[in-house]
Amino acid sequence: MSLVWFSLRLLLQSSERWGGKGSSSGKCFSFAVVDLDKNEEYPLNFVCMLPLQLSLDRKGGSAFVKAFGDQSFAVAKQLLLESLDRETNAEVKTEIERRLKLLEPKPDFEKRCLICGKIFQAKPKHGFKQRYCPECVTKKFGNRKYS
Ligand SMILES: [Zn+2]
Repeated sequence: MSLVWFSLRLLLQSSERWGGKGSSSGKCFSFAVVDLDKNEEYPLNFVCMLPLQLSLDRKGGSAFVKAFGDQSFAVAKQLLLESLDRETNAEVKTEIERRLKLLEPKPDFEKRCLICGKIFQAKPKHGFKQRYCPECVTKKFGNRKYS
């Protein structure tokens, strides 16, 4: 599979904002994906926002997932790692590291499908190790019941 997006000059543009009213809110960061081939100036080069969590499965997902499809995970990770290298602001670095962690599957509940690479919710009550997402299970084994 060729990674088309490597030819793009994509960068993350971080911006700080303060959360809404209330004691639980604080400073938050948002990351915009910009394309330097489009324009050198922000926001003319704006592509989409980097969502906090990627869910490739959901229909009508974020603009990011719509833009990068199956490569969303790889693009997001690459952009975050590059930003981490470049970033000098400690707070932004912490936020980037937090987001990188969010991209990793949670060991107990989320598994990465061995066939398609999507993250899916594992259901421990089934009593066996799930290695394939429900869609691939259906493709591979048909509609036979597993429970
Ligand atoms: Zn799968």
